[in-house]
Amino acid sequence: MKADKIIFATGNAGKMREIQMILADLGLEIQSMKEAGVTADIVEDGKTFAENAMIKASAIAQELEKRGERAVVLADDSGLEIDYLNKEPGIYSARYMGEDTSYTIKNAHLIQRLAGVPDEKRTARFVCAIAAVLPDGRQFETNAAVEGRIGYEERGENGFGYDPIFYLPEYDKSSAELSPEEKNRISHRGKALEEMKRVLLAEL
Ligand code: IMP
Repeated sequence: MKADKIIFATGNAGKMREIQMILADLGLEIQSMKEAGVTADIVEDGKTFAENAMIKASAIAQELEKRGERAVVLADDSGLEIDYLNKEPGIYSARYMGEDTSYTIKNAHLIQRLAGVPDEKRTARFVCAIAAVLPDGRQFETNAAVEGRIGYEERGENGFGYDPIFYLPEYDKSSAELSPEEKNRISHRGKALEEMKRVLLAEL
């Protein structure tokens, strides 16, 4: 089955760079929604990361079908699950305390909610689901996670979002203290994308 290109349903430039690096050996052009000139009104009302990723990918795939384009559509959904907070903020990670609230405030608030909680109960994970819709309509999904703990203060300048409070015991660093290459190698998104690459190599 042939596809002309891959369209990734994101407006995030950092994610696009990561995706282009990881999927380069598929030999297909990889475009963002903006580069492809596709827009869709997407309501992310799924109950899981995988559902939300598939909602995004399917909405874009429908737009492309109307235009008669044969692209593979990929979308991701990701977030932070904190065990002590019953897996909050979870699928609401981007919307937690409001989309426009700074991560300095969100991170400080989460640390405060874990005040007095000992190390072994501070377990958390970043989770990522990647959804794919192929030009013939077949759907695939991959999921991956990276395990860590919520720290006691923000550490590190790299990364984004909750990275400064996500502590990785085996590296003795926060996710924001890893280099971009290190983070890509171990991250939830990196791992889910690598797995999706294997699926596409087999199915395309
Ligand atoms: P999405 O872009 O809709 O998948 O939202 C993901 C949200 O989860 C982001 O806005 C961040 O708050 C959080 N998140 C996901 N991945 C990471 C990561 O690698 N580092 C820090 N925060 C992340």
